[in-house]
Amino acid sequence: MGLGILWGLVSVWTGWETFTTDWVKPWGNIFLKLLKLIAVPLIFVSLVKGISSLTDITKLSRIGYKTIAIYLITTVFATSIGLLLVNIMKPGDVFPAEKQEQYREKFSGQIELRQESAREIEKQSPLFFFEDMIPDNIFLAAGDNSKMLQIIFFAVLFSIALVLVPGTKTEVVKDFFDGMNDVILKIVDMIMRFAPIGVFALMAALVVDYSGDADIFTALGMYMITVTLGLFIMILLVYPLMIRLFARIRIPDFLRGILPAQLVAFTTSSSAATLPVTLKQVINELKVSKTIANFVLPVGVTINMDGTSCYQAIAAVFIAQVFGIELTISQQLIIVLTATLASIGSPGIPSGSIVMLIIVLNSVGLPVEGLALILGVDRPLDMLRTVVNITGDSTVSSIVARSEGELG
Ligand code: ASP
Repeated sequence: MGLGILWGLVSVWTGWETFTTDWVKPWGNIFLKLLKLIAVPLIFVSLVKGISSLTDITKLSRIGYKTIAIYLITTVFATSIGLLLVNIMKPGDVFPAEKQEQYREKFSGQIELRQESAREIEKQSPLFFFEDMIPDNIFLAAGDNSKMLQIIFFAVLFSIALVLVPGTKTEVVKDFFDGMNDVILKIVDMIMRFAPIGVFALMAALVVDYSGDADIFTALGMYMITVTLGLFIMILLVYPLMIRLFARIRIPDFLRGILPAQLVAFTTSSSAATLPVTLKQVINELKVSKTIANFVLPVGVTINMDGTSCYQAIAAVFIAQVFGIELTISQQLIIVLTATLASIGSPGIPSGSIVMLIIVLNSVGLPVEGLALILGVDRPLDMLRTVVNITGDSTVSSIVARSEGELG
């Protein structure tokens, strides 16, 4: 990672940007594509393996409820921290007025596209979330990385049926998934051998892509500091405390164990792409049983995004502050609710939450054009919030495992 940043800086200074974009960046994209390629099969196979090894349906539903409840609590907590910080630090008050118009022009095209998708979602009934969770064709669902919740739904349905059908008939199916699981994990291993080169290339390309934008960083400095502070509070305070208190794992062991997954999350900006590494670290280093990890982590990839919800709360209030709009307490509570739901609905892909942020803004009547102010610096913040997202999943899986006596 360090070498990649260095390469990026050197190529900006020496005018080698085009070389880096043409010859280095593609290796980063290849790494990212390999990780995305394995995400859908991995989610499916690990869920089937995790759930079908729980022969007791009451245990399965207990773990299910527990997982969802803790996921929700941590997300609401993260949103509230974001809201508290943005109200205390008021980053919108120091945003230079002359930049508003400039950014609005620059990003108007991108906003238009995303607004389209947000409108589609808003047109639907309140039950759309549940309706959308059910695929009408499993192959179509598997063909779209933003439809992972549909894959999860089918995997859960399939696995429950697998548990309910008498043992002798399903032996061969279970053996098949057992073997598949090993094969997929082997592929993950092979992809991860390529990780150092991929990470190097992604970081180098990022530095080159952002080299002309120093100006944006200064104007948005206070906003970035607020988001970063919120995310670091989660990573360094909230999760370690939860790990110590509820999972009873030593904090240094937790941080050391999860670090490789955090680095991949940081460079790829995608919790779905990071899932292979998260699973590996949580099982091998945090000693969470395979059954619990295979169930809790793939579900968390799509529904538990604490970093995303914390950031959405800050972004929404920041935009209100820049436009001089006072938000009432009840509007702020609506932000907690919608940011929590929006983070559940965001896919674990780079900038996956931007469309959902439009819905948060609309819910309290904030101008969607405000998005233009923050899009320019979204990538680095996306990298950090993805780290929070996967750290949250790992924390909850350890806690659930401890409560079930499945932590080694
Ligand atoms: N990139 C984030 C993730 O994959 C989602 C987002 O906040 O945009 O977890």
